[in-house]
Amino acid sequence: MPAIPAYPPHSAPRLYIDAELSEGADIRLDGPHAHYLLKVMRIKHGDPVKLFDDRTGEYLAHASALGKRDLILAIEGKTRDREAVPDLWLCTAPVKKDRFNWIVEKATELGVARIVPVQTERTQTPGLKPEKLRAHMIEAAEQCERTALPSLDPLTKLTALLESWPADRHLFFADERIHATGEGSFRKALVAHDGPAAILIGPEGGFSDAENAMIRALPRSVPVSLGPRILRADTAALAAVSLWMAGRGDWTPA
Ligand code: SAM
Repeated sequence: MPAIPAYPPHSAPRLYIDAELSEGADIRLDGPHAHYLLKVMRIKHGDPVKLFDDRTGEYLAHASALGKRDLILAIEGKTRDREAVPDLWLCTAPVKKDRFNWIVEKATELGVARIVPVQTERTQTPGLKPEKLRAHMIEAAEQCERTALPSLDPLTKLTALLESWPADRHLFFADERIHATGEGSFRKALVAHDGPAAILIGPEGGFSDAENAMIRALPRSVPVSLGPRILRADTAALAAVSLWMAGRGDWTPA
């Protein structure tokens, strides 16, 4: 018995639509979305397209009318509800542009709920381009089949972040100084601390002594080691988020 090909094919284009979607609705696309579907993916009448809205979930649609620079997609039905996003924030000092884009992309793929760029004493990166970061986030979510986008905060001073820290949220503070002390086992920290969480990663130059003390003074601060080597900030962010997702996130099948 030949295997019945899955429908929609895995290769069907998948797009984020920044508007609430619903079964039976028609949506008209123009601009970059239309260009991508018509010129890059060269979709034909009746071809399937998957859509998600970061509000209600993911839907299957098909091309019902094609123009030169716009098209109509007819939404057939919902394929998935919006995912239950693991309650993890990534608070990280911006590093050089390309690497920070990479952090945002990877954090999105790994499933974080919120990304907070943190201004620290040694942050070297002048400004962020939120729209560019959001575009990387959307592209990553489209590719990894997320149905939700992380929220992206504006650049936030470390002092302001800590002053308004939620009482119920653990802050796993990646401290590159503690490995030698034998303190900071991430595995033990994950076992000991469940519930809403955040990971804090410093800039290329690390946190200052004053910042280190300020972070540790937070009641919910949990200093953790990422091993004996000094990792680049982007490597540290990826490693810490992965550890948390495996230990407390949604990587373990329910
Ligand atoms: N101050 C470091 C040094 O001595 O060169 C550089 C900081 S490192 C490039 C950037 C950030 O990654 C650190 O602030 C820390 O948050 C995290 N990090 C890097 N390696 C780590 C490790 N082995 N354990 C815990 N955190 C680490």
